[in-house]
Amino acid sequence: MSQSCSSIKMTDKNGDLSFINKAPSQWRDIPSKPIEYAPKEETIFLSGGLTLLQDKLVEAALNSMDINFIALPNPDFKSFQTGKAFGNRGQCNPTYFTVGNLVKYLQDLHDKQGLSSEEIIRKYVYITAGGCGPCRFGMYITEYKKALRDAGFEGFRLTSFEHDKGIFQGDTIEEDILSFTPKFFIRLIKAVIIGDIINILTYKMRPYEVEKGSVDKAVEKCKEIVSKAFLDHSSLINALWKCRTVLAKVRLNRLQPKAKVMVMGEFWAAMTEGDGNYNLHRFLEAEGAECTPQPITNRLMLSIWEAEQALNKKEKLAVENGKKIDFSNVRTRMLIKAGKAAVKTHFSLYAKAIGLHDYDIPNMEKLAELAKEYYTLDCSGGEGHLEVAHLIESVKHNLAHLVISIKPFGCMPSSAVSDGVQSLVTSRYPQANFLSIETSGEGAANFYSRVQMALFKAKQAAKEEYEVLEVPEHIPEKLNNYLYQPKNEKAGTAAQLIDSLV
Ligand code: SF4
Repeated sequence: MSQSCSSIKMTDKNGDLSFINKAPSQWRDIPSKPIEYAPKEETIFLSGGLTLLQDKLVEAALNSMDINFIALPNPDFKSFQTGKAFGNRGQCNPTYFTVGNLVKYLQDLHDKQGLSSEEIIRKYVYITAGGCGPCRFGMYITEYKKALRDAGFEGFRLTSFEHDKGIFQGDTIEEDILSFTPKFFIRLIKAVIIGDIINILTYKMRPYEVEKGSVDKAVEKCKEIVSKAFLDHSSLINALWKCRTVLAKVRLNRLQPKAKVMVMGEFWAAMTEGDGNYNLHRFLEAEGAECTPQPITNRLMLSIWEAEQALNKKEKLAVENGKKIDFSNVRTRMLIKAGKAAVKTHFSLYAKAIGLHDYDIPNMEKLAELAKEYYTLDCSGGEGHLEVAHLIESVKHNLAHLVISIKPFGCMPSSAVSDGVQSLVTSRYPQANFLSIETSGEGAANFYSRVQMALFKAKQAAKEEYEVLEVPEHIPEKLNNYLYQPKNEKAGTAAQLIDSLV
């Protein structure tokens, strides 16, 4: 202890633990009285929190397995306020939005649909991802329970799967009401992958639509087609071929030099499409930009990569300690390989069917290589090293005119990366147009004005990039067909298209 520390005097009450056991101060996870829950056939499952499209596709996928599942509405500002009212102090922003969204939904069931609290507790179950971790994610389930109890739903059931295990939850997780079997996860992952692919295409097309609202209308139709295929157990590939026809009818004018903006950051904050990030994607589009979102599949690939790294480390330690090879690891390794291959294969099959040609699932090894000089790869939580890797990749390969990293207020991993590590990255890559921005639920005006400032520079860059190119007198029709997706060293879509003609 330093001299100055050792000279600090304890206050009289400091260290006085006599309050313990005087009053019921400890958190109790179990309800105070026993509850008779509804049987499996009467149980209704709730969840949500992905993109709008993915929540609906997941609903169809799970309903197709005879799971009575409802996707919650998109979290809004009222969800956030409800989360703040019933949650602990000092939580991160996604905790308030997602926990509050569930409480708000149950309150609506009670107040608007007239269900009693007892009936809601008896019948409804919330599915969420859980797991330990260095950030607040590890405490989500307790947060849900605390808020639900304080909102009058003590004993409401939550069931969780470990976010980092994917389809490999182990054979032991078998609950009375829902089994997290590989079949369950395969269906779920298919819905997420298809949602990602349609979302990528939506963000590519919407800024260039000739008739306002036509892309949203077409995507709505695609959602119906894919949902029906899930429910009918018919071919998803055929469904995506049908979607291709729907999308091809949308008229586009892609020769508009718009700033391309990569939106990344903390998983939930970057992905959500609503008040959780002040509707950032729509705001950017209204301001004349094209967004590149981060698909959920990338987060899935990161989880698989992390599982593989953990296994490598375990084996290395065993060898160093002179232990024999543990054959149970061989099975895990095979499952990891199979999982990785399955995600990639399904992504590329579905992408081909609907006509997404220029997107490859990121190579996690390559991203780790880019980031490791700046951020330790052993440090998981949030997006780990991915935020750093995405920024470097974007600069090196000229992928965007602006990179926005969204960090939710109170987020431990994302704040450390965006405020700390990225400063070093941007000092080494001064050409990067990078904006790290916090979402706190409130303070939208400040948020928008900072985005606008960064966007101004990005729009200039997009214009300059386009104006130096020679635009031919005759513009081939294919340029306005969404299926034409050339790849080259230009960042903006319009510049990419013109450059592809040379
Ligand atoms: S990464 Fe940040 S925002 Fe996300 S759960 Fe962890 S602390 Fe919260």
